[in-house]
Amino acid sequence: MTDTAVMHALYPLAEFPVLAALASPHTTATKLDGRACLHLYVRALGDIDWLALTSREREFMRTLGLFTICPCCGASALVRDTRDHVLSRSDGTPVTLTALTGDYCNACGEVILDGAEGQRVMDAAGELHRR
Ligand SMILES: [Zn+2]
Repeated sequence: MTDTAVMHALYPLAEFPVLAALASPHTTATKLDGRACLHLYVRALGDIDWLALTSREREFMRTLGLFTICPCCGASALVRDTRDHVLSRSDGTPVTLTALTGDYCNACGEVILDGAEGQRVMDAAGELHRR
């Protein structure tokens, strides 16, 4: 889809809980176009509970172009990337997880991983502590 198509398409609020909550005081519409969605997200950026977002809604926000702002430090420095991620064992030995895809912050180093990738990190971390 082109950017214009994204902005003019209509999106059902029922599929995006965080967006629906942001929109409810302002409109009774059940669908909003991309521009309206982006506007609501941008206005509420500081109040969005990032952990409550579904992966679908997160993907939608990315489609809208919202995902350039780091929820950790607030810098507009997030880039979609695939990088190696280093974990430390309890004895300090580094363990590298290769090719993790997520949104990396160039300012503070924070990474927001996709659901499946986050699970890989959790699994690897659990594995380390069992040893
Ligand atoms: Zn950051």
